Amino acid sequence: MIPSVLPTYNRAPLNFVKGEGSWLIEADGRRFLDLGSGIAVNALGHAHPALVEALTSQAQNLWHVSNLYEIPQQQALADKLVAETFADTVFFTNSGTEACELAVKMARKYHFEKGTPEKVEIITFEGSFHGRSSAGIAAAGSEKMTKGFGPLLPGFVHLPWGDAQAVAATIDENTAAILVEPVQGEGGIRPMPDQDLKDLRALCDEHGILLILDEVQCGVGRTGKLFAHEWAGITPDIMMVAKGIGGGFPLGAVLATENAASGMTAGTHGSTYGGNPLGCAVGCAVMDHVAAPEFLAEVNRKAGLLRQKLEGLVASHPAVFEEVRGSGLMLGLKCKAVNAEVVKAGYAAEVITVPAADNVIRLLPALTISDADIDEAILRLEAAAAAVEAA
Ligand SMILES: *Cc1c(COP(=O)(O)O)cnc(C)c1O
Repeated sequence: MIPSVLPTYNRAPLNFVKGEGSWLIEADGRRFLDLGSGIAVNALGHAHPALVEALTSQAQNLWHVSNLYEIPQQQALADKLVAETFADTVFFTNSGTEACELAVKMARKYHFEKGTPEKVEIITFEGSFHGRSSAGIAAAGSEKMTKGFGPLLPGFVHLPWGDAQAVAATIDENTAAILVEPVQGEGGIRPMPDQDLKDLRALCDEHGILLILDEVQCGVGRTGKLFAHEWAGITPDIMMVAKGIGGGFPLGAVLATENAASGMTAGTHGSTYGGNPLGCAVGCAVMDHVAAPEFLAEVNRKAGLLRQKLEGLVASHPAVFEEVRGSGLMLGLKCKAVNAEVVKAGYAAEVITVPAADNVIRLLPALTISDADIDEAILRLEAAAAAVEAA
């Protein structure tokens, strides 16, 4: 008999009832150190007082109002995002994959309005993840996500990760945009080298096509910059954001330049919940913390500390781990053992990590993790590695 919850997830037998900072408390009382943050969502940890305050005080006043009317919280969050980034304008969604939907629509509408409606194709990369909507799975293109779900949304070209020559050779009169994660998350924490991002930017400029960055996982302070592309010194035309921006409340956004967004006039796109007062009140509180230079400096300091300790962990467990990779507090341990076994051993040691493709385990701690909790994380990962070795 089919379970009452559609069985699309492989769930671990863990039932968390409370969160405090970097800690998750199981129904049986065990305290787990959370290095997953709900897959880079709880950027400020669990139950951050400023986010609790933002959500509950907004909840006392107004939960929902239609986008037929002014929403001051939405205006405030858009203003903050525009002030802190390349963007001139923002559309709010409830999730990352809805941001992908709009990014694709916006790029195609841009070329349509410019009088080049044949430009509809979007170049993407193997190992990508852009969510589970029809556009998201067509964009990523992996068999795992698309098999049985055809006909797929047409107009995506999939190239090998990091093959700049293949990109240059593929761009033609039908190309609309290049869509890429600056750091692949689900794909196994694979950062695109700065020079490759610069090359993609240059190719887009040369051919009059749009650069769309998916910063759903790597954005909002995760890599130690507010957005990961800042490390490469480039800017996109369109950027997808979600996960960390809501700190745990469902919130996403598409940021764009005035030029890239020029086709999106009144009536061309919309959302019932996107940009609702609750989500945007929380998003404002997240931005007030994460965009502060002192906060990002701390993320970078802690990232250095964690990475150095992880290098030691890898060196002392060569049968379990191969290498540390990633950027900031978006780190991956490429495993020699089976990654799922390492994650499972972590559960026994009461530390939460997240598997990814390419036999990697992901470490995406709260950006607010303390130095003491970093030390504790290493102790628990040591215990997990020792258990895998002994098995
Ligand atoms: C999680 C993720 C998405 C999809 O976000 P949802 O909120 O699950 O729809 C898209 N792109 C990237 C890079 C992601 O990590």
